[in-house]
Amino acid sequence: MSAGRIRSPLALFGGPASFSSSWPSWPAATPEIVAALQSVAESGRWAISGAFTGMRSHEQQFADAFAAYNGTRYAVPTVNGSAALTIGLEALRIGVGDEVLVPGLTWVACASAVSGIGAVPVLVDVDPQTLCISADAARAAITPRTAAIMVVHAYCSAADLDAFTALSATTGIPLIEDCSQAHGARWRGLRVGTYGVLGAFSLQQVKVLTCGEGGVAITANPELDDTMQQLRADGRRRIAVPRRGQLELEDIGSVQGRNYCLSEFHAAVALAQLPLLDQQNARRRVNAARLRVRLREIPGVLCVEPPAALTEETIYQFVIQFDPERLGPLPTRRVADALFAELGVFVEMIDAPLNANRLYNPLASRRLPLDERSRRAFDPHRFDLPAATRAQQNSVAFGHWALLGSSKHTDAIAEAVAKVVENLDDLRSA
Ligand SMILES: *Cc1c(COP(=O)(O)O)cnc(C)c1O
Repeated sequence: MSAGRIRSPLALFGGPASFSSSWPSWPAATPEIVAALQSVAESGRWAISGAFTGMRSHEQQFADAFAAYNGTRYAVPTVNGSAALTIGLEALRIGVGDEVLVPGLTWVACASAVSGIGAVPVLVDVDPQTLCISADAARAAITPRTAAIMVVHAYCSAADLDAFTALSATTGIPLIEDCSQAHGARWRGLRVGTYGVLGAFSLQQVKVLTCGEGGVAITANPELDDTMQQLRADGRRRIAVPRRGQLELEDIGSVQGRNYCLSEFHAAVALAQLPLLDQQNARRRVNAARLRVRLREIPGVLCVEPPAALTEETIYQFVIQFDPERLGPLPTRRVADALFAELGVFVEMIDAPLNANRLYNPLASRRLPLDERSRRAFDPHRFDLPAATRAQQNSVAFGHWALLGSSKHTDAIAEAVAKVVENLDDLRSA
């Protein structure tokens, strides 16, 4: 605390809040989205499995636009991001008896998509600099059963794609990129999701590209595209030249598909949002850079610094870390509550590592084999994730829309963090 300054009590304890204006809302309806929804409603085609009306489906339009946006050839939309991961894994012929490397610090769907097809998720610790999967730890976790490496670009950072593409090339193990928190990011100038054999994205409500619930997988490989199309539409794939009044899908059945299709309403919303993504990403990036400068001035406060090779980062969940060596033991949950009270924008702890995450409970599933050896393989508690555990204990995070506002919003975040750090003793004794 600077000398002579009167410490003002935290809003959490009844003091004046740091900020009382409103925040940008997310997601935001635009006239284009409303018009797109109306046009689907009146088109008579609400699903790709509806008759061809003479107009390309919104699902196909979104697929083409999203593939082009990423500079790749194919995109297969799905009902959600989990389904995009599932069809990606299944298209690589992964299943029972296989292992897939998954970061230990990520949303539960990364691991549950793997266990959901009967393969063993092998939880790998994160790099403390990026909070994304560590390439060294991944290399050490490879066994003769490793069938894929799933990296997740998260926390406004990215997995080290130089190291992971090299690891994939030397071992021959395919690389899957989960880009659900990194739509539009670029690594050495190219979009993330195009370094691996396939990229998977969620379009769920809080992601930076959203249609409420949705997902999409991208690839440059025509065989994977063909297989993923079948996997998501009960074994059917698109007909090149459809006829009006007929189905636009043909029966193939070279794999066991299921229905993971994105509806025309959702595809139309995603399509209407896509042109906004670059400008929203740019705005968040400017505000995030400003925030990082301010936060670095506060003793004991650290940010996740994006690696230099991440030439354009996507701001999704912005993480603020507190150094317990400088600040003492951290009442992290109370720090998050205190920031929420100061700012009026939701601040929370980041998700627990998957070896200690309530939502990751593969042994509760009857889909898995019941023998002792399998149960041990799927048990999340067998993994040791010290970097992920430490990061989770010392971090809070808030959503990307808080950085879609003005510099006033951004500065308020830094001021609130400074105030909370000055009042840590009050939080500890509360
Ligand atoms: C959101 C998310 C998913 C899951 O997407 P859903 O659309 O919710 O199924 C998967 N991976 C990551 C990293 C995510 O953030």
